[in-house]
Amino acid sequence: MTAKPQRPAPPRPDLAPVAKQAIYAGSFDPITNGHVDIVKRGLRIFDRILVAVLENPKKDPLFTTKERVAMIREIFSGRPEVEVQSFHGLLVDFAEKNRTRVVIRGLRAISDFEYEFQMALMNRKQNPEVETFFMMPSLRYSFLSSALTKEVFALGGNVSDLVPRLVERNLRARLGGQRRGRIPKKAG
Ligand code: ADP
Repeated sequence: MTAKPQRPAPPRPDLAPVAKQAIYAGSFDPITNGHVDIVKRGLRIFDRILVAVLENPKKDPLFTTKERVAMIREIFSGRPEVEVQSFHGLLVDFAEKNRTRVVIRGLRAISDFEYEFQMALMNRKQNPEVETFFMMPSLRYSFLSSALTKEVFALGGNVSDLVPRLVERNLRARLGGQRRGRIPKKAG
């Protein structure tokens, strides 16, 4: 059986023809400088970015949805063009509800590609009006993930270049007690 070719849907008058707003969705547990970099780059293209924090009960996050939303709001408090909301369910439904056609996803090293490719095509299948827009972060954040940041921090590593200061403080408050000391370097 051959799949039907998916042509771009004809324009719909109730959606803005040129994207003014994009949604940047993810778990952000916690937000890292890689995510911040993508938002800033996105603002060079879109007038507004709606950061959508996924409520995902399966993921057992370190920070609650409320905490994640509050951190991102605080980080972008000087940028009124950044809005932060939480969402659950299908991303394309959230996009439709917010009358937004573009969903930004960050692409890091090759490892992201296959999953993101599948997600983008699945989202298109669910709602052909919504387009996925991939952006690459600065090279220095291309190997950075929230999961690795938490792991390194818990092991006593330095994450000050990897996350905003507020996030580092919150990591200390949440994980500080379990943090292992670093092995002191041998003298000489
Ligand atoms: P998820 O939980 O869906 O994997 P994340 O919260 O980790 O999402 O990230 C949200 C989006 O940001 C995803 O598109 C992810 O690929 C991207 N992203 C994550 N870390 C970085 C980074 N260091 N640089 C650029 N994009 C990133």
